[in-house]
Amino acid sequence: MKMKRDYTLRMTEVQKKALESLLYKVKHEYRFVYMGCPVCGNDNEYIVVATETRYRVPITNVLCKTCGLLYTNPRLREKDFFDTYNTEYPKIFRGWREDVMGHTWKALNDLGESEYEMFRKMKLISPDDKILCVGCANGGLLNAFEKHNHEARGIEIDASAVLDGIRRGVKLTCGTIKDIGSYEPDIVIYNDCMEHLVDPLQELRNIPKNAMLFIRTAGLRAIHENWLHCKFDYFLQYPHVTNFTAPTIANLLAKENWKWRYMNSFVTGVFYFDEYCNIGVQNDFADSYRYIQACKEVVDYDNLLLFENKGGKTNIKYK
Ligand SMILES: [Zn+2]
Repeated sequence: MKMKRDYTLRMTEVQKKALESLLYKVKHEYRFVYMGCPVCGNDNEYIVVATETRYRVPITNVLCKTCGLLYTNPRLREKDFFDTYNTEYPKIFRGWREDVMGHTWKALNDLGESEYEMFRKMKLISPDDKILCVGCANGGLLNAFEKHNHEARGIEIDASAVLDGIRRGVKLTCGTIKDIGSYEPDIVIYNDCMEHLVDPLQELRNIPKNAMLFIRTAGLRAIHENWLHCKFDYFLQYPHVTNFTAPTIANLLAKENWKWRYMNSFVTGVFYFDEYCNIGVQNDFADSYRYIQACKEVVDYDNLLLFENKGGKTNIKYK
C-alpha cells in the first residue's frame, strides 16, 4: 500500500517574496524555448518526467531517450536566466538567513577549504597552481585557496555577488568564462554551475585545454543519499537546465575531448583534455528512468505546502 505523506517546506520571508516575484515573471514576463538535448542533440525522442520543480515552479523536465540526460525542455530564454540570477535566484537559493551574502561567503569558504584539502591529498594541486572558479557567487571559495597561497580568480554573472566579493577582497569579474582575459588557470572549478548552462558544450570549448577541470554538481542518482527523503521534485530546481549522472556528464565532456579521471555518483569529477579521447555516448536512459520512478513512489508531492518560517531554517516534516 502506498503511504500517504504530507510534508511542509518552510521558507524565510526573503525566500517567499522572491518566489512570489519569480512565479509572476514565469507566468507573465518570461518566455520559453524548446531545445534539443544539450548533450546528444536529439530533439524529439524524450519523455516528460516532471512538470514542476522545487517550490512548484511550472517548468518541465524531460529524459532524453538517446542518451538518458535529464534536462529542462522548454527552457527559459537566456535573458530570463540572466534576469533571475540577478534578482530572485540568490534569495530563493541562499535566503535561509537574513545575511544572505555573509552566509554564502562562509559556506563557500568552507567548501573551498574542503576542496583544497581533497586536491592536496589526491596530489592534484601544485604550490604555484592558479585557480579559476566559474559561477563562484561572492567568491568565498577563492578566499580559501588564497589562504593557501594560490592565486585565485572568479567569474560570476550576479553583479551584486561580484560587488560583495570585491568588497571582501577577492578577485572577481562579472561575466562568463569568455571574460577571463589573459589569465591562465591551472585548475578550473565549476561548483554547482555546469547544470545552469544553456549550452554546456559551448562552455567546454572556452575552457583552457591544459587546465585540470573540476566539476561538482548535484547528481541525479544520488538523491537517495544526499537529498531529503528521495524527493525528486525537491531535487529539481528551476535554473538547472541539466541534471547529470556520472554517465551523462562523461558523455558531455567526451564530446569535447575531456576525459574523466575521478568521478562519483554525486557527480563530482576531475577531467583532463585528451585530444585522442574517443569515448562513445553511453545511453543512461533505462537506469535513470527506473531511478526516477523509484524516487517518485516514495513521496506524495501533492501535499506540498509552504509555511511561515519562524525558526529561520528549512524544516521538512512528515506526518
Ligand atoms: Zn540526449
